Amino acid sequence: MKTTKTKRSDQKLGVALVGLGRYAGGQLAPALQQTKHCRLAAVVSGSPGKREKWQQQYGLNTDSLYGYGDFADIAQNKSVDIVYVVLPNAMHAEYVIKAARAGKHVICEKPMATTLDDCRPMIDACKKAGVHLGIGYRLHYDPYNLKMMLMAEEQSFGRVTQVYADDSMLFEKPEWRLDAKLAGGGPLMNNGIYCIQAAIYVMHDLPISVTARFLKDETGMAKTVEAGIEWELEFPDSRLATCVSTYNHEGDILRAEGTNGWFKLEPAYEYKGLHGETSEGEFDYPTISQQAAQMDDFALTVRKNIPSIVPGEMGMRDVEIIMAIYESAIENRRVLLSLDAYRGHAMTV
Ligand code: NAD
Repeated sequence: MKTTKTKRSDQKLGVALVGLGRYAGGQLAPALQQTKHCRLAAVVSGSPGKREKWQQQYGLNTDSLYGYGDFADIAQNKSVDIVYVVLPNAMHAEYVIKAARAGKHVICEKPMATTLDDCRPMIDACKKAGVHLGIGYRLHYDPYNLKMMLMAEEQSFGRVTQVYADDSMLFEKPEWRLDAKLAGGGPLMNNGIYCIQAAIYVMHDLPISVTARFLKDETGMAKTVEAGIEWELEFPDSRLATCVSTYNHEGDILRAEGTNGWFKLEPAYEYKGLHGETSEGEFDYPTISQQAAQMDDFALTVRKNIPSIVPGEMGMRDVEIIMAIYESAIENRRVLLSLDAYRGHAMTV
């Protein structure tokens, strides 16, 4: 793995944001003002006006502003150590591979890609270039979700035998998330991926099969993607996670039933304002920036040259599960999963 030898250990690593949309502007850029180990060093956008606005707002140099056409020039920019891909899902693979070829470490937003075939080349491109790859799984840095992982692992309420997860949202107007070509799928790709992640970290194991069905479109917004989907992930010993993700309602819950009690988050997947409860009482934590914690951790994995706790393999594992869920819903049958190759890479199990 490449190490950033040019940087002193007290110097922040430079992050280039690729795609200056709502998440980059509303969450990541403000979080980069709070990070200890990284800083905003460059931006990549197709809009000259947006680049100029960001340059003024964040005091960026003119030579740190890129369009998609000259993105490859970022290879020569020594102030950029990490490229953070925050584009519509179907563009992730192309820009992760380009960033790796430019010799930059890469964070890729979720879902890692819209097809399983795209995932392996992304991982391989990073390996070949000797750079680190992490997925933007911010909840692995959120104290509430970390507490859920810990209670599951320590069996604070016995062994978890059932999980219920719902991450659903409504749309007011059309956007790329409702366009299969750019989104790759509907709520399963966009939100349901959090339910998959959560089911795995509270079951503290990998699922062995899935049974899924599509839900009816209740709003007329979803034309080319599914409007909703329900699925059951079966874990060893007949333990079951029931999950739902739709564009028909607002939903935000994760609940785990253990043999000696229960624990839950509601809301579970937000940036802030999460709330925890167990059969013994409530739990709460001070607000932190999940994104700052996530990016700082990635910067440290780069500095120390150790694997990320949210590596490309975890992103690929989740895309494989997503594809199995779609296959089950389309073919109306239980689909077996064979995920053992991901053990050890996907750090929570
Ligand atoms: P957005 O629509 O607000 O921004 C997307 C950006 O991509 C825009 O700046 C747009 O100009 C640019 N873009 C470039 N080519 C485009 C094209 N052909 N079509 C549409 N836009 C194009 O979206 P967002 O909410 O910022 O989401 C971006 C990525 O971040 C997605 O992969 C999404 O899943 C992810 N995301 C993650 C979280 C999280 O909590 N981890 C939250 C929100 C979004």
